[in-house]
Amino acid sequence: MPAFSFMEKASKTEYRGRFAPSPTGPLHFGSLVAAIGSYTDALANGGEWLVRMEDVDETRRVEGASDAILRTLEAHGFQWSGEVLQQSRRKSRYREILQWLLEEGHAYPCGCTRREVEASGHPGIEGVVYAGTCRGGLPPGREGRAIRLQVPDEEICFEDRLHGIQCQQLARDVGDFVIRRADGYAAYQLAVVVDDADQGIDQVVRGADLLHSTPRQIHLQRLLDFPTPTYLHLPLVLDVQGRKLSKRDRAHPVSDSDPIGGLLAAWRFLSQAEPETPPADVEEFWAWARSAWDPARIRPFSAP
Ligand code: GLU
Repeated sequence: MPAFSFMEKASKTEYRGRFAPSPTGPLHFGSLVAAIGSYTDALANGGEWLVRMEDVDETRRVEGASDAILRTLEAHGFQWSGEVLQQSRRKSRYREILQWLLEEGHAYPCGCTRREVEASGHPGIEGVVYAGTCRGGLPPGREGRAIRLQVPDEEICFEDRLHGIQCQQLARDVGDFVIRRADGYAAYQLAVVVDDADQGIDQVVRGADLLHSTPRQIHLQRLLDFPTPTYLHLPLVLDVQGRKLSKRDRAHPVSDSDPIGGLLAAWRFLSQAEPETPPADVEEFWAWARSAWDPARIRPFSAP
């Protein structure tokens, strides 16, 4: 299943990164950290940086959030290449990929309810591991609700630039996972893999909450014959209870009126060296940041 490309890269070795917020609320400090990490890494490598609105889950989309996020990025001096890709416009592409995975026997319809999945599965790294009830076909009288991807009984490993070698046994730790949800929307795991490939992304810098998702994404990339990008998972900004900040909670929104304050706070969070004199404006910040960026200084985990 070849990827189609939105933009031709000048050369195969060129760096192309991205920031992929979900428009579930205004940008918060945690997303600013992910934006800064991915943007500065692209700048420092003379690469391109794209923005993608991950609004595949339309049930979580908040009116106006997408525009507000883009305004905040602009106020902070981020400059992205090309158009912002919106997942909500990519449904036919996701359908095409789902169809191919079904036809090739890599995926299957699942008729189980959430309650049945929980009752028959066992605990995994992210909730219940599906018992595989519908793997051999739907039980009589059942209709397919979700579509699941069949996972191999083998370890999938990758080297994260910050966390080093990471391995996961998908069958034991995650199980056959949902790639099209029961409500008909493509699941994040599928959409992110298809979009990264179609946009020619070869460098993914994002929050460490997605470290555990990466082997699932690599498995999909291999099935679809898509290249696997290089990954760097940044420390998460946690609230006082030790939970990841969420746009939906409207926690720690970033102010458009003090961009330098926000940029420097995110910069410090990533343990980067302080500028000798505070930058006068965002242009000065970015001109300095692109040469000061040192990913080796980032600490993999953060304390609340
Ligand atoms: N949309 C996800 C988020 O806002 C990020 C997904 C990704 O970077 O792969 O947390």
